[in-house]
Amino acid sequence: MIQTVGPTEHLSFYKIVVIGDSNVGKNALLARFVDEEYDYRQFQVTIGIELKWAVVDHGGEKIKLEFWGPAGTHRDPNTVAQCCPGADGVVLVYDITDRQSFENIGVWLKDIQKDLPENAERMLVTMLLGNKCDMEEKRIISQKDGEGRARQLGCRFKEVSAKHHINVKAALDELVAAILERRKGRTGSSTCQRCSVS
Ligand code: GDP
Ligand code: MG
Repeated sequence: MIQTVGPTEHLSFYKIVVIGDSNVGKNALLARFVDEEYDYRQFQVTIGIELKWAVVDHGGEKIKLEFWGPAGTHRDPNTVAQCCPGADGVVLVYDITDRQSFENIGVWLKDIQKDLPENAERMLVTMLLGNKCDMEEKRIISQKDGEGRARQLGCRFKEVSAKHHINVKAALDELVAAILERRKGRTGSSTCQRCSVS
C-alpha cells in the first residue's frame, strides 16, 4: 500500500531521482509512484525540481521514498547535479516512441555521474524505464534495444506504462529491493541511517 505523506515524518528513507527528456512521462510515473493515479490534467511542465514523498511497506518495514524530478524541458546539468547528492536510486526514463529520448539516456547518466564521488556512484542503483509501452503501434525502440542499452549502462530495466499502470509497481518494488540490498551490503542492516538532504 502506497500513501503520500508530508516531508517531516521520521522514517528511514531513500532518495530517488527521476530523470529523462521532456515529455517521456516522468510526472506521470511520479504520480503513479506516489498516488497510483494517472491524471494527465495535473501534468504541467515542471519548473526546477519537483519533490514527492511516498511511504511504502517493504516486507513489513515502512520506508519513506523521496522522489526528486528535475525538469527535463532543457537538459540542465546543474539542476541534475543539484538533485543527485545523497541519491540512493536513479530512474532514467525514455519514451519507446521517441528515439531521441532513448539516445539521450547516456547523456543524462553522465550528468548524474559527473559530480558524484566514486563510492556514491557505486552505491547508486540505476534503473532504465521505457515508458508508454501501451503505444505498441507507435513503438520505435524495441524491448531488446532497451535491454541492451540497460546492460551496457549497468542499469536494471523495465518497460512500463504510466497511463495503463503496466509494470510501474513492479519497477518500483524492484528498485526499492535493490536499494535495500545494496545498503544492507554496506551497513549490515536494511535501515538507512542517513539524514535528509537539505
Ligand atoms: P514529463 O515531461 O517527462 O514529466 O512527461 P509527462 O508526465 O508530463 O507526460 C508527457 C505526456 O505523455 C502527457 O501528455 C502524458 O499524458 C503522456 N504520457 C505519460 N505517460 C504515458 C504512458 O505511459 N502512455 C501514454 N500513451 N502516454 C503517456
Ligand atoms: Mg515533467
